[in-house]
Amino acid sequence: MAEPDTTEATAESATDESMETTSSDADSDSHAVSNSETSDIIQDASFPTLIEPNGYSASTCGYCSTGNRDTSPRSSRSYGMTSVQMAPRIYQDLIDRGWRRSGTYVYHPDMANTCCPQYTIRLDALQFDPGKDKKMRYLINRWKRYIVEGVKPGETIATEEKIEGKEKGGKKNRNKQSKTQGYDYIQELRSAEYDQATATGVQPALRYEVMLVPAAVTQERFALYKRYQETIHHDRPGKNHISGFNRFLCKNPLGRQRIPYPNPKDVPSILPRHFGCFHQLHRVDGRLVAFSVLDILPGCVSSVYFVWDPDFAWASLGKLSALREAALAREFYNAGMTGMSWLYMGYYIRTCQKMRYKGDYSPSQLLDPGTNTFYPLQDAVKVIDKRPRGYTPLDTNPDTLQIPGSLEDPEIAANEKSERWPRRETLEVWPDPPPPSFMDPHRIPVDYLEKLLVFVKGSLSLLKFIPFMNRTAVHKIVAELVAALGTGRLATLDEPETEVYLAL
Ligand SMILES: [Zn+2]
Repeated sequence: MAEPDTTEATAESATDESMETTSSDADSDSHAVSNSETSDIIQDASFPTLIEPNGYSASTCGYCSTGNRDTSPRSSRSYGMTSVQMAPRIYQDLIDRGWRRSGTYVYHPDMANTCCPQYTIRLDALQFDPGKDKKMRYLINRWKRYIVEGVKPGETIATEEKIEGKEKGGKKNRNKQSKTQGYDYIQELRSAEYDQATATGVQPALRYEVMLVPAAVTQERFALYKRYQETIHHDRPGKNHISGFNRFLCKNPLGRQRIPYPNPKDVPSILPRHFGCFHQLHRVDGRLVAFSVLDILPGCVSSVYFVWDPDFAWASLGKLSALREAALAREFYNAGMTGMSWLYMGYYIRTCQKMRYKGDYSPSQLLDPGTNTFYPLQDAVKVIDKRPRGYTPLDTNPDTLQIPGSLEDPEIAANEKSERWPRRETLEVWPDPPPPSFMDPHRIPVDYLEKLLVFVKGSLSLLKFIPFMNRTAVHKIVAELVAALGTGRLATLDEPETEVYLAL
């Protein structure tokens, strides 16, 4: 993505886990290429998910706050939990209900009360046709020219006006129709890659390679991340450490379960064999110039973050990468995984100009956070623009339109003066009414809570068998988790089949 989510970049677990480097912690990923590796793929369909509640919290907002994080108001509201391991199907289910992860921290914005509502956005990769957009075609062609001919646009780079002018010419205009119709953007993108180019007899000036490898910490990826953060996001030197990089873009709870392709033998080698979190690396003549962080899930490709070399600012790698990610979703579809044809692009934030670019890719849809139903983006934004803050159902039928009350005026919350606040402060008070699609924790019976299956000290137990100093406090925390997730999501004595266990 061209512009990263700064909030996603900082929404991390309060616990500071020790850094885990892997054996691929070297300057080259050549030995980490693992499309064919199968050693640690989980064969068993059963894979327990463990969830630890963090609670409802207020934090400074990465979208609307300006200046010092420590002194900015805590106007961002969300519920969060930590998961050290999660089945991909469970995470798919969560993102389809407005949740999102940052490392092992999984959170859901309070869409009625947070200052900058975050709507889950997804692109229909099957219908997506960037070939219709001449600017997109221009970006692809410019990149291809660079790779094939080694010609990098210099100071005299062709401007948008020039392209427009070219397209407007009579002769060009006549060609326009045929140009658009026969244009396969995936083929165009792929044709710049070394294996494809050489297979068709082209010897490109530069060796461009794209490879999907499991997310892992390497010095090379960390060095690019650090340079990107400092140059593009103006992070002060020394702010980014390899442990933070690991926590934010490598460490993840997703189980590496086998993708059930209907015809595994016919699957192209560029597609992974298992679900999980990946880094898609872009190399030019061996140099890492960009990588995207992608979750590959049973119902989508979910884009987490994109890091690029500031020397390549001219190339719009973020846009090219988004096309590559949409192409990946379509390739899964073509390989028989017909449910995977969506590209989830994270959160769409209407109130933040910098984050609106995600809406430029179409056709896309936004999730109504109250009903957990997706609506076409162009319809949804009309509703949002009438009331940018607070929750409004995206279903525009006036008979069903109800606007729930709000905990407090978000404008006031955004302006509240504060002293030194911690980055994330857990709030004792549950919002009344509860956030859209959440339940009221007071209505969850204690009997239900006591029957929850709890993963504690390496084994499963019922909550009621665990001695607690303050049972009421535990009930409150667990009831809030159930209220956020919904009943029937966590395994209980009566409903063990979800394989989602409370961890304390
Ligand atoms: Zn905000």
